[in-house]
Amino acid sequence: MSLVRKSFCRNCGATCGVELEIEDNVPVALRGDRDNPVSRGYFCIKGVASLERQQGLGRLPGSLKRTGGELEPIAMDAALDEIAARLKELVDRHGPASVGLWFGTGAFSSSLAISVGKGFASSLGTPQIYTTQTIDQSPKAITALRMGAFKSGKQNIATSDVWLLSAVNPIASHQAGWGSHTMYAPGAALRAEKKRGLKLIVIDPRRTETARLADIHLRPKPGQDVAVNAALLNVILSEGLHDQAFCDRYVGNLDRLREAVARYTPEYAEREAGVPADDLRAAARMFGGARRGATSSGTGSNMAPFANLADHLLECLNVVCGRYRRAGETIINPSILSAGPVGEGVYPPYPIWDHSPKMASHPEAGWACPTEYPANLLADEILHPDGLKALIVVAGNPLMAIPDYTAVRKAFEHIELLVTLDVRMSETAELSDYVLACKTPYERADLALMTDGNSPFPAAQYTEPVFAAPGDALEEWRILHGLARRMGFPITWEFSNYGSPPTGRQMVLDVDDDPDSDELFDFICSHPEAPFSRLKANADAVGLVLADMALPKVLPASPEDMARLDVMPPEVAAEFEQCFATHQRQHLDDGQLLLHSRRLLEAMNSNYLDSETILRRQPVNTLRMHPDDLARRGLQDGQAVAVDSGHAALTTLAEADPTQLPGTVSMHHAWGVGPEKIPVSVLIDKDGMREAHNFVPRMSGIPVTVRRAG
Ligand code: SF4
Repeated sequence: MSLVRKSFCRNCGATCGVELEIEDNVPVALRGDRDNPVSRGYFCIKGVASLERQQGLGRLPGSLKRTGGELEPIAMDAALDEIAARLKELVDRHGPASVGLWFGTGAFSSSLAISVGKGFASSLGTPQIYTTQTIDQSPKAITALRMGAFKSGKQNIATSDVWLLSAVNPIASHQAGWGSHTMYAPGAALRAEKKRGLKLIVIDPRRTETARLADIHLRPKPGQDVAVNAALLNVILSEGLHDQAFCDRYVGNLDRLREAVARYTPEYAEREAGVPADDLRAAARMFGGARRGATSSGTGSNMAPFANLADHLLECLNVVCGRYRRAGETIINPSILSAGPVGEGVYPPYPIWDHSPKMASHPEAGWACPTEYPANLLADEILHPDGLKALIVVAGNPLMAIPDYTAVRKAFEHIELLVTLDVRMSETAELSDYVLACKTPYERADLALMTDGNSPFPAAQYTEPVFAAPGDALEEWRILHGLARRMGFPITWEFSNYGSPPTGRQMVLDVDDDPDSDELFDFICSHPEAPFSRLKANADAVGLVLADMALPKVLPASPEDMARLDVMPPEVAAEFEQCFATHQRQHLDDGQLLLHSRRLLEAMNSNYLDSETILRRQPVNTLRMHPDDLARRGLQDGQAVAVDSGHAALTTLAEADPTQLPGTVSMHHAWGVGPEKIPVSVLIDKDGMREAHNFVPRMSGIPVTVRRAG
């Protein structure tokens, strides 16, 4: 008998509502849920491919253990017993810091995996936590830690007059920055906002799907975000378009910022970045002249040289224009699952790297995102004699994601114990000593925490498991709790939504406890109008819209709170000098092109790249080139080409793409090419030019040569 269940997709941060048809515990169809008030039926190609991921595609029917070089089946309980014993022995011999955890893209799609996982690490006593954030998003954290952050958060796009997207393409990625409902049906949502009157500015070398909707599209050379952002600030500050009253109250070192950007005139930026000066002036006036609106950034600028400085300057646009929620304004969506009262004020700068334990391999390195070490240093930490001996990979594929594939592979082959928790085999799982079978999203209960606060009205959703998992598969958090129980320590779990300030709300998962997910969700749901019982009662409906909720207002700052956003701390000023003196004079060798990263609608980092649905549309990770660049080299569309960064080379197929900026090429990150599935990260030198604190190397804007292969 077939039945229809409602749930939500957890393949990316949009959490679109979904309807699944189930026959005899087997999902036979799924579609976007037209009744879902937030996503309203939207569903992308990755959501469609979920069923393949659920039922085929190397789905793990059970857990595996490496025996005599081969991975062989093992029961979950037996695997947990053995892994716990080996971890205990490593901790006894080398201390708790010899054990690390990696949280990948899949972990971000579970509302419990990372927060319980971080509780596992802190309760064990290891600071060795790594996530994908220090690959593609950490400049945002560095900015907040060096500048401080405004407590009430940015304005919402639904109430804005202007929005600036820097190197982010939400129509492909469904990522559009905090407080944005444009992650659901992004094209339609952006078009609707524009119809309402929103002005859209896009900074991106490529004429992306999103850039086609822009009122102003600035196309800098990859890696020139500093010049563009500094020129925008130059115009806004010199023409008095900033919010002086906000700056007087909340901003420190504005004069130093003004001085630092003075030499970045639009004409200077035009010479460096290739963007017409008149367009830069028009964009600055559009952004500064609006009443409300903010900026968001993505991988393009967050992976490029001087990524931290570029992000700092982008946030300075919000700061000098006072583009945060202000006292007295109504909060249209108060993030009912994860936020408390919201007020004006500043979290002061906090250089967490000075206050965290240091890495054995890099005594100068500490946590870069709150409580996370830089991913780019993981390989060194594994190979250091006093470094990591065991790594637990939670729902990720770091072998394909971390820069410098050859170095990472060598480290993963060297480590004493590699354990991967996943729903399917991945390249990392293939190297692991144990692969533990996890439940897929539709097999587990969950809260839509990732999108809490993003819809333009208060809403929340809980889903029950919609069908049973095979065998003894478990949720990631329960596997970690199972290990802790066997090792004999309780997990002190502090609930916080990833990226949000700590809540201070703690729950102890004791060695004798065996709670299910609902008990933890009950603890999370503390809002009086959205208790867990109310969400659970709506689990098979369409989510909970709190249409009758009295919307709160932003509170005024406490008079004692005199903290300020530091827009030009000495360290940033020094980076600015260095950038001006070196990077901005970058010259390419004759014939070199700049390789930049890109996202595909069909993939989420390394996920979905082996799906038949996806491969029918995009079978190969091609090198996208402008037709003129192909012709100049005597190359044809579809021809095999060798791409050489000087650090390493790979071979793939060229694809003519008129949306590329001439002189640039692009590939999707984390996707292997050729029979050995070598990812693009092989081209990156992890020890080359690196950012401060997060040690992000040059992952975009890489000079490469391209020639006919063979
Ligand atoms: S946009 Fe994200 S959440 Fe929505 S269907 Fe696609 S993958 Fe799923």
